[in-house]
Amino acid sequence: MRIKNKVAIVTGGASGFGEGIARRFAAEGAEVVIADINYDAAYKVADEIGNQQAIPFQVDVSEPEDTKKMMDFTISKFGQLDILVQNAAIGMSPQPLEETPLELFDKLFKINVRSVYLGSYYSVPIFKKQGRGGVIINTISTAAIRPRPGLTAYNASKGALIPMTKALALELADDKIRVNGLCPVAGETAMLNDFLGKGNEEEKKEIHKKFIATVPLGRLAQPRDMANAALYLASDEADFITGVMFEIDGGRSI
Ligand code: NAD
Repeated sequence: MRIKNKVAIVTGGASGFGEGIARRFAAEGAEVVIADINYDAAYKVADEIGNQQAIPFQVDVSEPEDTKKMMDFTISKFGQLDILVQNAAIGMSPQPLEETPLELFDKLFKINVRSVYLGSYYSVPIFKKQGRGGVIINTISTAAIRPRPGLTAYNASKGALIPMTKALALELADDKIRVNGLCPVAGETAMLNDFLGKGNEEEKKEIHKKFIATVPLGRLAQPRDMANAALYLASDEADFITGVMFEIDGGRSI
């Protein structure tokens, strides 16, 4: 049990990488709030983990009131907060810059960037008040380091999280609040369908193969890969690790 007696919030915990992280955290002893805009899916994951250890919470992470309520809910249910995994986000289908609606750019920045700022904004006072450090883990992407074409708005939204993560790591170091990023390559989750484009199944299969061909270790990321990395960063084993962009990418970013 590597994170026993810790309390974690995992945003986007109802699906994909977040679900993998939430399940692994619970298996390693943490109590987990499965925070997601999709309440039914969050409920299902929490129910399967067991309601002693996991509770669903409906949140739109891009909204300040919701985010504040998520923190208050966690404290009211579990009495403390130790780990915040900011993983919820949206993707996009590849498209030329000049055909990408400005509304999509704004939506990506609201859900993928503002959310992480807000989650930090409302969790840091809790960590400081508790006075025993804390862990923030932001799901970024190899899109921020080694972007693919046609995804400029998404790439930029993930890119913004690198200085945010590093700046907070510096700002919060005196309080022993560690802030790190996870940078997965394309992963086998619901979001992958967006990145494979709007073509037919055959075309999607071809792009899937092409993605795999760009990964030296020869496969895409799985939720378990993210869960293993998040568990390490969340645990005391990583108590000297802050401000890193942890690539979970089979060598894609080399
Ligand atoms: P996913 O679609 O399976 O899960 C995303 C979850 O976030 C969903 O449960 C969704 O309901 C939730 N969500 C979306 N908007 C929300 C909002 N406003 N408030 C609260 N919850 C919201 O996708 P995933 O692949 O597991 O994505 C997890 C993270 O990994 C994201 O940050 C994504 O950008 C990142 N990522 C994904 C890939 C990939 O190829 N799958 C690659 C690199 C990075």
